[in-house]
Amino acid sequence: MAVIQVACIHCQKTDNVVKNGKAYTGHQRYLCRNCNKCFQLEYRYNANQPGTHERIIDMAMNGSGVRDTARVLRISPNTVVAHLKN
Ligand SMILES: [Zn+2]
Repeated sequence: MAVIQVACIHCQKTDNVVKNGKAYTGHQRYLCRNCNKCFQLEYRYNANQPGTHERIIDMAMNGSGVRDTARVLRISPNTVVAHLKN
């Protein structure tokens, strides 16, 4: 049986990462026992992808409007507004 090394998307460590059930979308969920956070390797919604928050902030700083950002990242304008409020 092949063992797949999974790195935690929060702390980038590969040890102490265990399977943690399935998301309702059927994707495998993982739990990192170093930082106690859950993550998935693939997400159904683009807004949940790692790094999306930083991209929204970058685009806003470079003059993209809410609708521009939503179209480029393929997420809802409401999601963009919610991220910019934080
Ligand atoms: Zn971790």
